[in-house]
Amino acid sequence: MQLDQHSIVIVMMVVFSSTLLISTGLVFALIRTDAGRLWAGGHLVLSGGGLALTINAATAHLVEVGAVAVMFYLAGKLTIYCGVRVHQGLPGFTRMQGVAVVATVAAALDALTGPHAVLQLHRVAYVALALLSLTTIVVLLRSRVRQSEIGLPLVLLASAVQLCAQLYGAGVAWQGDGAISPSPFHAGNLGHDPGYNAVVVLAPLVATLLGLFGFTVMALEQVIANKERGARIDGLTGLLNRAALDSAASRLIVSALRNRQAVACLVIDVDHFKQVNDRSGHRAGDAVLQAIAEALDNSRRASDVAGRYGGEEFCVLCPHTDEHQATALARRILRKVRAIPLPGPAGKFASVSIGVAQLRDDGSDSVGLWQQLFGNADRALYEAKRRGRDRYVLASTLEREQALAAAQAGPASASASEAESESEPGSDAALAADLPGDPR
Ligand code: GH3
Ligand code: MG
Ligand code: MG
Repeated sequence: MQLDQHSIVIVMMVVFSSTLLISTGLVFALIRTDAGRLWAGGHLVLSGGGLALTINAATAHLVEVGAVAVMFYLAGKLTIYCGVRVHQGLPGFTRMQGVAVVATVAAALDALTGPHAVLQLHRVAYVALALLSLTTIVVLLRSRVRQSEIGLPLVLLASAVQLCAQLYGAGVAWQGDGAISPSPFHAGNLGHDPGYNAVVVLAPLVATLLGLFGFTVMALEQVIANKERGARIDGLTGLLNRAALDSAASRLIVSALRNRQAVACLVIDVDHFKQVNDRSGHRAGDAVLQAIAEALDNSRRASDVAGRYGGEEFCVLCPHTDEHQATALARRILRKVRAIPLPGPAGKFASVSIGVAQLRDDGSDSVGLWQQLFGNADRALYEAKRRGRDRYVLASTLEREQALAAAQAGPASASASEAESESEPGSDAALAADLPGDPR
């Protein structure tokens, strides 16, 4: 079957009208994602250029109109490429791209004023398009963003098809002598070679549809990934939120039990934080919480999991770490937090109290073990508060000393001393003396 020029013009008009309508809708749908906005906007401009080019080729045959349409088409491609860069976390538009744009426009103007304008325009357009496709492929292949599993391969395939077609088109244009212009600029020149029509006109049209679909999927994948991230991350501090911490803890505990490895847990509470809010306001308090969260994040190892458990309470889980090894982290955190100035009168610095515990397998399920681990660290934290704050306490040491104190005091006086510490939580019991705190 051989496609005649009218069929090709109709196919081009149908495809570009479709992509024009689809990308108009997508501009609104993807307006909130930086890359998605550029991809949808780029396809809109590209489709407008393609449609104008086709209509001009079928009717007026004005080379100047064709040239402007090609520039729109190229501008759309460039916008899509900028979106790819933004998606990869790179600056969208660089000075190098600016130089390439100026050079392309200058070459197109030069082509318009010289002999064989249509052929020259083809050469300029195909070289620019091939360069854009090539750089798009290179940037996507070097991608460090691993959140696109379906969209990225589709876009790569579409860009590769387009690159092949553009290189073929450039080759034909370069061999042309000006007498025959293999050109959608002139409908009369379409359809003279079925191979040319298939490679240079129809394949890129299919690739344009595939690319539009691939870019849309990529943008949606990014939206979903951001939403999933937002559901796991605490908005103020950027650490994991409580729900994410709970599920990370359960996973970590299951893996630790399977591999018979230790897990330590630090529960951290900011000291006298209510006073910070009362003195300087909630916004200033928020800034202190952010600084403390950053200090925690910078203190932990990459394998440790840090989260905000609630208000001014944080938690760090340390795989492959026992309680005693975790004291190094506790000391580091205490030191870093002490360097955070508090708002208000100069010379005041933040401090935290820390309870440290380690996982003990008593045969419970992972949720039960996590509750127990957190509970032990929380009790040690309470003891650190009781002993004057700005220090850490180990859960095992606390339990040993409580057992020792109970054994020494006997059953009657043990219950009396419990009653005393409940009614007077601020008073230091005898066990405070040699606990592993880190007083200033
Ligand atoms: P302690 O040393 O015993 O822990 O004293 P504290 O003042 O830190 O403890 P308390 O539980 O009395 O007060 C905690 C305060 O933390 C009260 C609450 O308003 C504040 N807070 C909780 N969440 C936030 C938050 O997201 N932003 C700000 N600015 N304050 C918060
Ligand atoms: Mg507190
Ligand atoms: Mg608290």
